[in-house]
Amino acid sequence: MIRVLFATSEVFPLVKTGGLADVSASLPEALCRQGYDVNILLPGYPKALSAARDAGSRRQGRFSIGQYDVSLWRTRLPGTAVTLWLVDCPSLFQREGNPYQNDEGEDWWDNAHRYHLFARVGVMMALGQAGIRWVPDVVHCNDWQTGLIPAYLSHYRSRPATVFTVHNLAYQGLFSHETFRALGLPDSLWQFDQLEFHGQLSFIKGGLVFSDRVTTVSPSYADEIRRADHGYGLDGLLQHRSHALVGILNGIDTRLWNPENDEHLEFHYGQDHLKDKVQCQTRLRQQLGLEVDGAPLIGFVGRLVEQKGIDWLLEVIPPLLKRGCQFALLGSGEDSYQEALGELARAWPGQFSLTLGYDEALAHRITAGADLFVMPSRFEPCGLNQMYSLRYGTVPIVHAVGGLRDTVFDPEDCKSAEANGFCFREAEASALLHAIERALDLMGNRKAWRRLQENGMAGDYSWKKSARLYGELYQDILKERE
Ligand code: ADP
Repeated sequence: MIRVLFATSEVFPLVKTGGLADVSASLPEALCRQGYDVNILLPGYPKALSAARDAGSRRQGRFSIGQYDVSLWRTRLPGTAVTLWLVDCPSLFQREGNPYQNDEGEDWWDNAHRYHLFARVGVMMALGQAGIRWVPDVVHCNDWQTGLIPAYLSHYRSRPATVFTVHNLAYQGLFSHETFRALGLPDSLWQFDQLEFHGQLSFIKGGLVFSDRVTTVSPSYADEIRRADHGYGLDGLLQHRSHALVGILNGIDTRLWNPENDEHLEFHYGQDHLKDKVQCQTRLRQQLGLEVDGAPLIGFVGRLVEQKGIDWLLEVIPPLLKRGCQFALLGSGEDSYQEALGELARAWPGQFSLTLGYDEALAHRITAGADLFVMPSRFEPCGLNQMYSLRYGTVPIVHAVGGLRDTVFDPEDCKSAEANGFCFREAEASALLHAIERALDLMGNRKAWRRLQENGMAGDYSWKKSARLYGELYQDILKERE
């Protein structure tokens, strides 16, 4: 049985800022179901440690790394059989709220130290030096927070195989050269274009340069990040590593996201009783103070940042409100977007609803209750919400990039048996508006609309296929290293 240490800085339901948390819960579980022995490694954030204590878990390894006393807790990821190791180092991880930022939305000043220590613990586990008996064959790292693990491990001849998954290349973990020195990283890692990136220390390069394989979360994104316009200056490196780079589409947790039994919904529905979706819509409108009429309801859930195309959305909302559409938006992020959306909410009560903050239950209710779900992302490594929407019979309207392009198929581009949503290509608000208008027009044709919804609901968005691909990847690397 192949043993995999899955190192991640977030995992649902213990700590989540985005899709990484969902993937870090559902992929290890799917791999375990396929016979892999996957253990997750996570920083000991307060909520994670208190869940471990409540579950009667215990500390196992105890050791010091530099000035830090560290202990490891062994527990289970709540609601699963997956083993979870927590790196308990109170001075670095005992902080409430967002794992990366303080209440003012600024990055924690010591993030480099925090995730450096996390990486050092991952390395000790990988080398069997953490005082526990379980030693992995593969270390699967995720995003910049874990990038130093493959970098450190590259110095050892006898080490586990390493896989590094890019969930979003825009976040790279860049720090000063002084920080590089303060962390005590080996000088050799600065030279030869390794961790150095335009005079800065780049955590993500540790993963991209040193891992046996680099994966990303959709085939289209794997192509895009090799191009200068999406590669953030790392496209040359990624081209160089093309032979080791592969895109594997994320799956979703089809148990948590199932309109037949979703715990956040009062009413349930499915492909063969889709008409009950209307009750979810009526309930959502009541909850959000939207007028209860037959207007098309457009949903959005996500971070309010430039990546998500919020500026395009702000341009198209007023003409659509004038046309009689309703909106249900949920998210949090940049102040300027929050304010501009807040103004719309004040100007259009009963037609435009904005909820600022993070709300898991409302995310499910919007996904179920909306007719259309918009994702005008400038770039989107994979995106999960479009798959949630498809499964809920809510028709997605997306910018044809990354994973959105790999999962949403427009009637203009494919056979009607395959179409499940609407895509726009040009990176501009007018193209988004045109796609939404095409969707609104098709809504008038009940039969064609129903077909679109059913095609979406019939898709397989589970982890089954993709987990198999990750498993094969592990096996390939281990075979090569024999
Ligand atoms: P990203 O990781 O770039 O934020 P993804 O689409 O991959 O985007 O994943 C985002 C996840 O976070 C989805 O599960 C989405 O529903 C959830 N999410 C984002 N913002 C909120 C919010 N304000 N409330 C509830 N869930 C949210």
